[in-house]
Amino acid sequence: MNKKPFLNTKAYAAFNAANPLGPYQLERRTLGSHDVAIVIDYCGICHTDIHQVRNEWGGSLYPMVPGHEIVGHVQEVGADVTGFHPGDRVGIGVMVDACRSCSSCAEGLEQYCENGFSPTYNGTEQDKKRLTYGGYAEHIIVKEHFVLHLPTHLPLPSLAPLLCAGITTYSPLRHWKVGAGQKVGIVGLGGLGHMGIQFAHALGAHTYAITTSPHKKADALKLGAEDIIVSKDPSAMAQHANSFDFILSTISAPYDLSAYLNLLKRDGTIVIVGAPNKPTELGIFDLIPGRKTIAGSLVGGIQETQEMLDFCGAHNITAEIELISIQEVNEAFERMLKSDVHYRFVIDMASLRNT
Ligand code: NAP
Ligand code: ZN
Repeated sequence: MNKKPFLNTKAYAAFNAANPLGPYQLERRTLGSHDVAIVIDYCGICHTDIHQVRNEWGGSLYPMVPGHEIVGHVQEVGADVTGFHPGDRVGIGVMVDACRSCSSCAEGLEQYCENGFSPTYNGTEQDKKRLTYGGYAEHIIVKEHFVLHLPTHLPLPSLAPLLCAGITTYSPLRHWKVGAGQKVGIVGLGGLGHMGIQFAHALGAHTYAITTSPHKKADALKLGAEDIIVSKDPSAMAQHANSFDFILSTISAPYDLSAYLNLLKRDGTIVIVGAPNKPTELGIFDLIPGRKTIAGSLVGGIQETQEMLDFCGAHNITAEIELISIQEVNEAFERMLKSDVHYRFVIDMASLRNT
């Protein structure tokens, strides 16, 4: 067996916080007995890629190869791998390893690993030394436990965003038991939000898209929203005051949280998954009178990610994507910053392979 399948993998990297991404060559680790060697066919662009490339959350490690919405096919498996075979279509999300022994890992919540999970990029492997490099690349080697099976009847590029945008919205909707009879708002109609609308609708909730972009209305309705609420229109927001059971906020930039707390009815919950780079002010009197709850949520565990992918297979749910070449990635970042995304950019890795 070839023990070094992916020496000299072509990639695109950020070399610092200020400059555009450009070509980079990296060496993946040697294939271990529990490893799966994957040829990357497509990779989605998550807004987290922009936050981290630009060091908006601090602690960024360069050169950084972003990308944690990876789909492709298996090239080779290690001797002890039992669940995957060469040729299988597979996905990799936000994590590539975790301690697998703490109580969170034992519950299948590797994203809350008490010893720190290994992110797919901009972090380290469990040795806390070797850097991880993500999916803007030709290949990746990942431990079997963190490799996901994809539905076989849905188009591969449209599945890539499920690996982060999909699970990040599915997990809180399931955890807070969103379903029939509830009025649910999904704030921000980007990569995460457009998945959240589809999931909330499929779970039976009366789903509203809460957006700054009125022109996204037709798309929101097609995705399953009953209607949109334009957050910049105070009368539209007032009309829906104190009426929502549950709101999921995917906003990527700083915003006024109280405007959304006012939409919740008594005992309502807002879950925040969007991660702006500045602290948010909280008016305590937006919470007290209605016994309202604010919570956060981080992606989802591996078992739940597989459940989400199977749910998408059963309900024919995929992402709405714009397929681009790797050379267009910097332009795609700029368009996302203007909320000009319909609704996820996905990179066709053939454009990297053929350079
Ligand atoms: P995205 O595709 O760029 O979408 C973000 C959307 O937020 C925009 O399309 C826009 O929607 C809305 N928005 C942007 N600026 C706004 C503002 N100032 N006020 C109100 N709305 C605004 O981003 P994404 O990939 O979905 O990611 C969203 C956020 O989630 C990012 O911060 C990302 O880092 C974070 N994230 C968190 C997790 C987690 O585990 N918690 C996982 C993945 C991503 P409209 O045009 O509809 O207003
Ligand atoms: Zn992401």
